[in-house]
Amino acid sequence: MDNRILQTKRDIIEAGHLLSQKKLIARTWGNISARISENQFLITPSGRPYRTLTEHDIVTVNISDLSYQGDVRPSSEAGVHAELYRLRPDAGAVIHTHQNMASAISVSPDGLQIDNADYQALLGDVVPCTAYGMPGTKKLRTAVKDAAVRYPDSRAFLLPKHGTVIESADLDTAFAAAKALECAAEKKYRHIVKDEFPDSQQEKSGPPEKARKLCAVIRRVCGVKYIMYADSEAVTAFSKKGIKLKPWLDDLSQIAGVNIGCFDLSDSRSLIRELRHKNAVFIKGYGAVCTGSTPEDASAVKMILEKGCMAALYGMHVSGARPLSMPDAFLQRFIYQHKYSKKAYADKNL
Ligand SMILES: [Zn+2]
Repeated sequence: MDNRILQTKRDIIEAGHLLSQKKLIARTWGNISARISENQFLITPSGRPYRTLTEHDIVTVNISDLSYQGDVRPSSEAGVHAELYRLRPDAGAVIHTHQNMASAISVSPDGLQIDNADYQALLGDVVPCTAYGMPGTKKLRTAVKDAAVRYPDSRAFLLPKHGTVIESADLDTAFAAAKALECAAEKKYRHIVKDEFPDSQQEKSGPPEKARKLCAVIRRVCGVKYIMYADSEAVTAFSKKGIKLKPWLDDLSQIAGVNIGCFDLSDSRSLIRELRHKNAVFIKGYGAVCTGSTPEDASAVKMILEKGCMAALYGMHVSGARPLSMPDAFLQRFIYQHKYSKKAYADKNL
């Protein structure tokens, strides 16, 4: 293998670890690519954990027709990457993230104005929000293409109810751009949602004793293996509203469930019933219980639920923000459960 290509593959693997460590994604979501010629780029594979990737898993894809070399399938968002390489000859790297703050503000179609000169150099003057397309679809690819044509000076885009895609000269610059985008998005988020967190400095005392007992009952009655308690400021603030969490984000509906209920701590029957079809339930005023069949599952549900609550709180404060349509949300939940359970079965049989 050409030394330059081998090194680029290693850089992509290292960037994948960074993507997980910096919490820009959960599980195998998000993807990274780097251009190696006018018509080719290297990209992370579809559905593989970043921690196990080797050079052989990084796929070479043709920009013009999306054909790829070898047996490993490229990321399902390879088409989005290809559009950006095609439209932007100076793009050397593309990353797709599910970072918290940028995803939370992506529920509004407004996009993000950038007013800091350092950030403008990385992102452009505006980070526009594209039209909606479900993950991995041609509709999403076309939405990114249209936005990139309409905003030729923007190097980052919000994918509505999903995340971001960023093109840069190289991988290091793309990560700097992702960080700048997260800071700019957080500033806007905090400004709009500030009233929701009046007591954010309060010490966390963990779940109340009654909630701890409830978790033990859930484990026994539902046969749930792993339970995590979520009480970040966003989850706690949302749980005080006593309402269902609508499907504000793609990964929220996929991994945690659609329309997650909120019940009083004393209503253990409803709390337990909610977990039959979902991986999370809110306890009014106290946060939420997240479940999974492995510790990683439960932890991913917790991480995604926190982001989902942030998106919901933002969406409830800005006009024009909408959650996913119910058909899109339920379809994504179904596909995720079907594919994921099949994959878990296959892994067990290796
Ligand atoms: Zn994604």
